[in-house]
Amino acid sequence: MLQVKNITFSYKKAKILKNISFNVKAGEQLAIIGESGSGKSTLLKLLYGEFDLDSGHIFWKDTEILGPKYNLVVGYDFMKYVAQEFDLMPFTSVAENIGAFLSNFYPEEKQERTKELLEVVELTDFAKVKVKTLSGGQKQRVALARALAKQPEIMLLDEPFGHIDNFKKQTLRRNVFKYLKEKNITCIVATHDKEDVLGFADNMMVLNQNKIEAEGTPETLFNNPETPLVASFFGEFNVINNEIIYAHQLKLVDDSDLKAVVKRVYFKGNHYLIEADLNGELVFFQHENPLEIDKTYCLLIA
Ligand code: ADP
Ligand code: MG
Repeated sequence: MLQVKNITFSYKKAKILKNISFNVKAGEQLAIIGESGSGKSTLLKLLYGEFDLDSGHIFWKDTEILGPKYNLVVGYDFMKYVAQEFDLMPFTSVAENIGAFLSNFYPEEKQERTKELLEVVELTDFAKVKVKTLSGGQKQRVALARALAKQPEIMLLDEPFGHIDNFKKQTLRRNVFKYLKEKNITCIVATHDKEDVLGFADNMMVLNQNKIEAEGTPETLFNNPETPLVASFFGEFNVINNEIIYAHQLKLVDDSDLKAVVKRVYFKGNHYLIEADLNGELVFFQHENPLEIDKTYCLLIA
């Protein structure tokens, strides 16, 4: 189990994280979410031992994770960290980059593992290509495969699919998370993309203002978002009578007290997002058809 006990950290003076505590069971996946600048990357770096804590402790099983003040070399063998800015060996091939940490004593096994990992990140056709000629998204896939190569016990992923285009993202995400689960690798992923969380994370944690604003399973937080920030992670929402109501929870009815005048209509693929004026406040709801601008409709909270 990963145990984070009451940690506080600041880069010079500014406090970034304050009294943060949480646990992650072996094999579980935790998503750390929060706005840009909320400290997600900093937290991952602390878990990796890249900086010294101001106070508190981090343990993986019985090993305390310590920063550079106590460790000559940053990091631990049982842990891999894929940073937002990945560093690779640009002048060697994709396959060599992935195999770099695998033992040469077992050439067949090394070849087999490299092949398997090339498949996970869908770069089999690029095995012999030099990394420096790859696109940003392809490089990110090499970095992921490289981190997976040594089968760490814990994987720290910082916005792992941020550079990857939508065409590849869905399959790659499924491949990587499936691989981590199959190998029982504990994973902590920092992200602002709900697609990285829903369907994959066992638990999630929302960072805001140096603290954990909310934590729980994705289902719990989705169904009961206690703050607007939590709701905003999942989608368009409204605050009506002090309650958080997602756009998909508002339905058109023939008559009700909630009368809204349609202002704009956005095509969203399988529905339209309607922006309307409800007593001087903007509200958003979903509808299967585009609605008439400036017409008044009645809404019901479903
Ligand atoms: P996130 O990953 O959630 O976007 P970061 O952890 O990167 O957030 O940053 C949290 C805060 O710490 C930001 O205000 C950022 O400017 C600051 N910060 C990040 N890295 C450093 C650094 N090396 N030195 C000083 N301040 C930093
Ligand atoms: Mg970051």
